[in-house]
Amino acid sequence: MSKRVPTSGKRIRDIGEFKLIDVLTAVVAGSQPGRLSLGIGDDAAVWRPSPGRHIVMSTDTMIEEEHFRLEWGDWKSLGHKALAVNLSDLAAMGARPRLALVSIGLTGSERDREIADLYRGMVALGDQFKTAVVGGDTTTSETAVMISITVLGEATSGPDSVMKRSSARAGDLIAVTGPLGLAAGGLEVLDQELRTLDGGPAMEEAFLRPKPRVREGRILARSGVRCAIDLSDGLLGDLPKVCSQSGLSAEIDELKIPVPLSIKWAFQDWIEVALRGGEDYELLFTVSPSVLARINRNFRRAGLRLPTVIGRMVDPGEAEPEVRLRMPSGQVEKLEPGAYAHWG
Ligand code: ADP
Ligand code: MG
Repeated sequence: MSKRVPTSGKRIRDIGEFKLIDVLTAVVAGSQPGRLSLGIGDDAAVWRPSPGRHIVMSTDTMIEEEHFRLEWGDWKSLGHKALAVNLSDLAAMGARPRLALVSIGLTGSERDREIADLYRGMVALGDQFKTAVVGGDTTTSETAVMISITVLGEATSGPDSVMKRSSARAGDLIAVTGPLGLAAGGLEVLDQELRTLDGGPAMEEAFLRPKPRVREGRILARSGVRCAIDLSDGLLGDLPKVCSQSGLSAEIDELKIPVPLSIKWAFQDWIEVALRGGEDYELLFTVSPSVLARINRNFRRAGLRLPTVIGRMVDPGEAEPEVRLRMPSGQVEKLEPGAYAHWG
């Protein structure tokens, strides 16, 4: 028996994506399996099939016109991105991706070699992380191409072996694994046809072929990081999820946010691009200051770019958790969450 479900009869476009997920969470609540370590609400679900083993799984869909335009890139890049956004969710848990199931909806006018290229893009990326496509589904989709991927991964055993959105602690530093705003810049470049822009090709690359931070995620988890999320909806889309699930506020420092010079030159409102632009797929994590040195050592040893500390988690006291920005003037202002959400 599922518990009473708080539906209202309202249309999805009026309640929004997050309320809809709350409703669906209530419907499935009564039917969750035993040994489920983590259900709806994080970057991926975690199931313990037997003692000492964790399976981590996540799924993500891309629809033509909604998430991509075929004229923006080639099919191979599209395959790369469709798998990358899924691997990124496992990276955010610190899991090791292993298998992928790929469902595609095609209008029928695509050519076989194009769909083969789509899969070449997935295989090329999957090979980097020893992740194989082992099945899927093919259907007709009258007007738009659709790609939906489910990934399964493994996590090492131990109750704290996966990084969760809810595990931040007051006093933790907040860090990101790479620059912010490049992918949003890339979307502008493609949309407004700004090919000649300084740094434009790198922005395009960031948007079309994001690099899932799988190695970084595994090292973070092994180094003792307990809390992480991948930045798919932008810093101000995703950091508030960590805040509300951990019951903490975040204070970030404008001067510390890693924004590429090309973004600063190209966009007058570059700070908005860096704060609210989505799809960078860098990892954001929180960590006690004493563990940071170990992380830097382990990243350096693995030949990875060192993370950048951008702020700190703080106790909100009696207040609701919020994200605050310390500006170069020293003034601190509250930021409104700016998730990219479907139906507003
Ligand atoms: P992310 O941005 O990392 O992909 P989302 O914000 O899309 O995460 O999802 C938040 C949580 O809600 C995840 O645990 C996801 O599995 C769950 N979720 C999203 N859509 C659905 C759905 N239609 N049915 C069940 N669970 C869902
Ligand atoms: Mg995610």
